[in-house]
Amino acid sequence: MGKLTGKTALVTGSSRGIGRATAIRLAQEGALVAVHYTAGKDEAEDVVETIEKDGGHAFTVRAELGVDGDVHELFLGLENALRDRTGSVALDILVNNAGVMGGVKPEETTPETFDRLFAVNARAPFFLIQRALKHMPDGGRIVNITSGLTRCANPDEIAYAMTKGAVDQLALHFAKHLGPRNITVNSVAPGITRNSNPVFDMPEAVEFMAGLSAFNRVGEPEDIADVVAFLATDEARWVTGSFVDATGGTLLG
Ligand code: NDP
Repeated sequence: MGKLTGKTALVTGSSRGIGRATAIRLAQEGALVAVHYTAGKDEAEDVVETIEKDGGHAFTVRAELGVDGDVHELFLGLENALRDRTGSVALDILVNNAGVMGGVKPEETTPETFDRLFAVNARAPFFLIQRALKHMPDGGRIVNITSGLTRCANPDEIAYAMTKGAVDQLALHFAKHLGPRNITVNSVAPGITRNSNPVFDMPEAVEFMAGLSAFNRVGEPEDIADVVAFLATDEARWVTGSFVDATGGTLLG
């Protein structure tokens, strides 16, 4: 029996990257996982297939975040699927992972780019938590994926880092608010972590990025997924409101 058997989980943005690895990891522990995506339908279905081949349970749910009605659309799909599979809409674990990077110099950041970054990275997680709490039993788990860039300067990512600074606040304040329900709320901060960005196919760039970590390698999505999975289990019941540095020592300087 896994550590999350009988639990239900939603991982936003789990068609690729860190979200994909997290969905697979939570399912390995026995959770029924909602694999959320927006554009990557085939990728999301592949995640479900991978989980099911391994004996786990998962389904896809689609919704674009950062637009009007986003949370409502996501929860309509989620609730229908949960009701079909479990007879209830209870959601035990929410992982706010979906996010968009900026990659725009401060001089070139437009109000539209800025608003979009905040809508996807900060506004959506807040309202996802607000909605999820209606169905989250006592003892639930909320994990928000932030970034090492809230502690380490990168002038090309000021607006993005601002969104993640806002995400960090979710753990602090919601943790206090939800303590009486034994719901924990934590932030996990990845450093540079391999994803489908073509930069990870460029050996010189990878070598440079690896040099930022104390371990002289870039992070793998599974490095982050293991941390999230721990926070989702009962073993992490005494950890709440924390900022977990999962940057592979990048923030050591
Ligand atoms: P990827 O770019 O690999 O994947 C992003 C995921 O988010 C995809 O599943 C994508 O869905 C989904 N997504 C993006 N925008 C939206 C949207 N508007 N609505 C709904 N879903 C959306 O991400 P990573 O794995 O690299 O990053 C995951 C998280 O970790 C992000 O929050 C990121 O900011 C954070 N992070 C990543 C770091 C890294 O180096 N990779 C470093 C620090 C933090 P679809 O494919 O269907 O479009």
